[in-house]
Amino acid sequence: MIGAVAGDIIGSRFEGHPEPPAGFDLFHPHCRFTDDTVCSLAVADAIMRRADFASTLRAFVRRHPDAGYGGMFINWAFADDAPAYGSWGNGAPMRVAAVGWLAATKAEADALAAAQSAVSHDHPEAIKAAQAVAGTILVLRQGKPAREVRAWITETYGYDLRPETALKRGGFDVSAAGTVPPALTAAFEAKDWEDAVRISIGLGGDTDTLACIAGAVAEAIHGVPHDIAIRAREHLTEDLRQALDRFEQRRTVD
Ligand SMILES: [Mg+2]
Repeated sequence: MIGAVAGDIIGSRFEGHPEPPAGFDLFHPHCRFTDDTVCSLAVADAIMRRADFASTLRAFVRRHPDAGYGGMFINWAFADDAPAYGSWGNGAPMRVAAVGWLAATKAEADALAAAQSAVSHDHPEAIKAAQAVAGTILVLRQGKPAREVRAWITETYGYDLRPETALKRGGFDVSAAGTVPPALTAAFEAKDWEDAVRISIGLGGDTDTLACIAGAVAEAIHGVPHDIAIRAREHLTEDLRQALDRFEQRRTVD
């Protein structure tokens, strides 16, 4: 989970850049947490408290209304009974990491990934992308070798994870189907966690979400360096830090 949060914070200052510079500082005064972090911690909180995804997401968003949400999502979040709005956006996979860490089985991960997605992002491509990210984290954490997981993703979800096709620089793609393959490929190509985040941010475009997903998956492969985890936590507000603490305590107990 800290991998998703740190990726979001590190990627935040390059959102919309066509070509972020190589060798950039990971942390910079312009770094901040964005919607990816708020929503990821909301999903974690809902699972741990066995609470409703929609009301938990709304509560977190309303406490952090200026985190860079999409227009449709913020309208949904501030309306108490708004239905899902057919979105195929990357909001569903960007917030799903906790499912991969907290689910015990692939069936449970699929069900939770779909449920957290469907409250707002109920398009099949959004649900599939969320299931792919959660399932990837689950099987990596259970010890399946990364090389096998990569082939399994392509077979199961049809995502092309070859670097020559998935790692295309430039453009701003906020679709779930356009975001998850490059983010996963960055995580699989990287030599360590930091490299995964650098590769994904180097693609430009929706850098905070690319790095959030790449960072979440790379955490399951490599772990997150302690100093990066510490620096990322410093960017959170007290309530978000507490949500992260509860998640980490739960993981330790498990
Ligand atoms: Mg964001």
